Amino acid sequence: MTPANLLDYDLDGLAAFCEQLGEKRFRATQLFRWIHQKGAADFSAMSDLAKSLRDKLAGVAVVQPLAILSEQASTDGTIKWLFDVGNGDAVETVFIPESDRGTLCISSQAGCAVGCRFCSTGHQGFSRNLTTGEIVAQLWFAEHHLRQRLKLAPGERAISNVVMMGMGEPLQNYSALVPALRVMLDDHAYGLSRRRVTVSTSGVVPMIDRLRDDCPVALAVSLHAPDDALRDDLVPLNRKYPIDELLQACLRYLDKAPRDFITFEYCMLDGVNDTPQHAQALVQISQRVPCKFNLIPFNPFPESGLTRSPRERVMAFAHVLQDAGVVTTVRKTRGDDIAAACGQLAGEVQDRTNVTQRMTRAPIQIHRKTSDTAPTPPEKTS
Ligand code: SAH
Ligand code: SF4
Repeated sequence: MTPANLLDYDLDGLAAFCEQLGEKRFRATQLFRWIHQKGAADFSAMSDLAKSLRDKLAGVAVVQPLAILSEQASTDGTIKWLFDVGNGDAVETVFIPESDRGTLCISSQAGCAVGCRFCSTGHQGFSRNLTTGEIVAQLWFAEHHLRQRLKLAPGERAISNVVMMGMGEPLQNYSALVPALRVMLDDHAYGLSRRRVTVSTSGVVPMIDRLRDDCPVALAVSLHAPDDALRDDLVPLNRKYPIDELLQACLRYLDKAPRDFITFEYCMLDGVNDTPQHAQALVQISQRVPCKFNLIPFNPFPESGLTRSPRERVMAFAHVLQDAGVVTTVRKTRGDDIAAACGQLAGEVQDRTNVTQRMTRAPIQIHRKTSDTAPTPPEKTS
């Protein structure tokens, strides 16, 4: 029998597993803490677990890490790992340090079925969903590796924020995602605050509703277009869940969300979605849903046939939103030197993700107004 991977379980799952072994819940909690708080994978090292339990576990369970294919460290501290998930598939995880936080960008799928025009993952197609264990293993590895590497004091944490913005559409891998989020949030594991765990989605409306009920965390929605005609073209999922339905789901989500705004991501594509008129149309959207905008300079790749909006146009676009009182950030590129190596990785497994290129940008605030808070939602017009 294949041993169970204990990274697949949230605390309730681990308790159920331990119960099958005839063990009480507090044993599961101890085990959970060893694995996630101490980074232990070897049961024999778990000194306060009963010897009988350690022996039982050794026969039926493992803590299964991902195999690392490569690591690249940028001069600015950004680190990206490429993990082998079998059958020639690889996923990326990126650590982005900033003065006040450490953010880990995690992948949820090998490939992606949504097929957005501007996304290299989308162009590569879908291979498979990651398991809960594979999602959690990215955090488990990064947190414990970084604690040693950065020589953190006991009790200090390397990762304060998680963003599900790596490869894949997290809400199309819902059943694996939710237990993984629970592990991230659990005080016996990583204890991250709900406000510091962000799920980014291209807009899987029914799953936004389920996430609100099952495990509300911060939500980022990849908008990229203010109207259905353009969004249908850029984000094919829009044909199934058009903007109006998506905005209504965002509003419902805010009922239970840990933050009182949705972050709209908007990839700036030269001559496609970057005119002042587009920005004005987004202002209208901001009047329906309390939100912030995050403008992402597009990272070009040949098959897309698209190019990045010039910096001045991005700034002008941001200013339209700013002038209407909408908090807007433009992501600044980080990890440039390692992103330059994207696609240059040796061997059979290709870097199919470009996660570093699209993710490792520290948001720079470009407020013209003094406040750093979310805008007061304008009154509804009807
Ligand atoms: N599937 C989810 C999360 C992963 S994509 C989603 O779409 O939200 C994470 C972010 O990277 C999304 O906002 C996506 O639009 C953006 N992105 C994808 N390809 C990009 C590219 N080539 N340049 C810049 N951003 C990109
Ligand atoms: Fe998938 Fe997100 Fe890329 Fe679209 S942007 S193809 S949803 S990973």
